[in-house]
Amino acid sequence: MIYFQVLFIAFIVVTALILAIMFITSLLERRKNAATKALLLIPVISSFLLLLRLPPDFYWLIISIDITFLLAGSYLFIPRMFFRKLKEETAKGNIDERTIMFSRNELKPGSERFEKYYEEFPQHKDSDEQFRKLPGLLHKKSTFYKPLPYNASDAIFKVVDGLHQHVDGKVENPPLKGSPEQFSRFVKKWAKKAGATSVGITETKGYHWYSIGGRGDRYGETIQPRHKYAIVFTVEMDHEMVMPAPKSSIIMESASQYLNAGIIATQIAQFIINCGYEARAHIDGNYQVVAPLVARDANLGEIGRMGLLMTPELGPRNRIGVITTNMPLPAAERQYDDSVEDFCSKCLKCAVNCPATAISKEDKSLINGVKRWQINSDKCFSYWLSAGTDCGRCMSTCPYSHPSNLMHNVVRWSIRNFPNFRYWAVKMDDFFYGRKSIPAKLPDWMQNN
Ligand code: SF4
Ligand code: SF4
Repeated sequence: MIYFQVLFIAFIVVTALILAIMFITSLLERRKNAATKALLLIPVISSFLLLLRLPPDFYWLIISIDITFLLAGSYLFIPRMFFRKLKEETAKGNIDERTIMFSRNELKPGSERFEKYYEEFPQHKDSDEQFRKLPGLLHKKSTFYKPLPYNASDAIFKVVDGLHQHVDGKVENPPLKGSPEQFSRFVKKWAKKAGATSVGITETKGYHWYSIGGRGDRYGETIQPRHKYAIVFTVEMDHEMVMPAPKSSIIMESASQYLNAGIIATQIAQFIINCGYEARAHIDGNYQVVAPLVARDANLGEIGRMGLLMTPELGPRNRIGVITTNMPLPAAERQYDDSVEDFCSKCLKCAVNCPATAISKEDKSLINGVKRWQINSDKCFSYWLSAGTDCGRCMSTCPYSHPSNLMHNVVRWSIRNFPNFRYWAVKMDDFFYGRKSIPAKLPDWMQNN
């Protein structure tokens, strides 16, 4: 019996310790509800130790609890190698950048470009007329208007626009000699030092490239896939700025991280050009490639239900920068991680919390010959134009978005490696953080501004 008693004490102590770590972590993250629940559960769990004082007639209770713990643990933590792997769907076709919402939003009514577009795509006319009546991004009449954060965001986006002139350049030097591994190591280390969270390299595929440009002076141009390789990286969106989404901090953070990604990408592109190889940076407002697809193929993450790249470190809480180039580089072989797809099929939290009901609660469906999730971008973008921000509610509520620390990293790692744990991870996230939660307060320094 002594073994059962020791095991029982170990289970209770470990559970109470996990709750204590949860309590401290939640306090540091300013998640008061989660901290309170963890704190209240500590005495509840610890009170089970009183069972040890019961007379020997009740020892069966302790033995049953031990067996339940052992069975539950061995069921939840069966490694993924014992499960059938989901099959990855291969992307097909190219996206015409003129059809994306940002491009359509830039069309000026009455202009030749405007008339031509709706002649070619009449199916977009009615919905686009509706969103043109809305206030617009960073507009004074939008729901979450705050003068200081809105003006700051506008200023940052202007600086990002200023980087557009540096996205490419003419190669004037002979190619520098060096091995692909040497170039790769240098660029990856540099990108990380400059602030990237993760960096990868992939060969570019046909479907990475837009077919026709849709922004600025690239409008209507056929895009030629010129480069064999893509260097792609992510930068972190600050948790404290994301959690109040869709309030004004989210758009300021998006702008800041687009700028950081833009600075890293343009520097690297210019460096490669200096080394005598063609290169082009792809940054906010100036892409020739679909950045999440490139990042996915470089194994930086997977595309989740909400259509964003979900990385193992930060889930969707990131922005992406890309540099395409002909510099010889070692490309990664694609390794599909099916845990995101499986987790998303159980979670649906982004769909439940989306204020525009733009995220599907259904299973993946067949779109252009590929089974995938697709958000309703008309609904999403219309919400942005009335909110005045880029919303980000899906990002802020996603269970993968928690900060990178011991507790959340262990949970993310367990989600990846133990399929049976995923359902319970969703339930735990719902219990501690709420299934449908209220956006956090703006950071102190942004309130009353
Ligand atoms: S909230 Fe849930 S369903 Fe949505 S992307 Fe994140 S993990 Fe997937
Ligand atoms: S950004 Fe907002 S509106 Fe758009 S899909 Fe996410 S939650 Fe919905």
